[in-house]
Amino acid sequence: MYGRITGFDGEALYITAPFSDAWVLEKQGVTETEIRLIDGRALSPAQRKKLYALFRDISLYTGHTTEETKDFLKTDFLARTGAEEFSLSDCDMTTARLFIDHVIAMCLKHDIPCRDSLLDRAEDIARYLYLCLAHRKCCICGKTAHVHHVDRIGMGANRNEICHEGYQAMALCWKHHREAHEKPRDAFNGLYHVFGIKLDGFLCKKLKLGKRRKAVS
Ligand SMILES: [Zn+2]
Ligand SMILES: [Zn+2]
Repeated sequence: MYGRITGFDGEALYITAPFSDAWVLEKQGVTETEIRLIDGRALSPAQRKKLYALFRDISLYTGHTTEETKDFLKTDFLARTGAEEFSLSDCDMTTARLFIDHVIAMCLKHDIPCRDSLLDRAEDIARYLYLCLAHRKCCICGKTAHVHHVDRIGMGANRNEICHEGYQAMALCWKHHREAHEKPRDAFNGLYHVFGIKLDGFLCKKLKLGKRRKAVS
């Protein structure tokens, strides 16, 4: 999403951001937003490399050319965010960052196989880890995942009945899940550069946590 600064009174910025997706606000109960100031630095070679790697993986999956894939993704990004037309030869870093994360969200949503771990391509890691939970994809290797609770839920608590909201979790395949239980938490998180994401109402509902269901650990 893009906005324009419409005022500054010395203590607060006033921002107008065109937005029409009422579903997100009402059904997901979103009340906060993140603001990044666009500083005008041009995108980095690493960002460009990530984008072309994503275009390549998506084109292999869909059968379209890399160029067609790029055009489609850009058009979709512009339509959804209200961003202005940009070129990958000289756009700013923030636009590149938002575009990369937009394409990654699409890969997760449509289960597109990617050659490298999307963890290495994501710019906003917290957002990526959140989406991995939402789509049950291992945040390290991309395989189908289980929910791993980073917080140890107390011995007395029945995992099927407690409310999971507020607990930290991450999506891991069976192999990485086993590894997470074998290694100390900080060693595992440090090795892969991952961290727990707080389960909110949307994730609990989507993952059917807190309802009668097979236990998670
Ligand atoms: Zn994995
Ligand atoms: Zn676990």
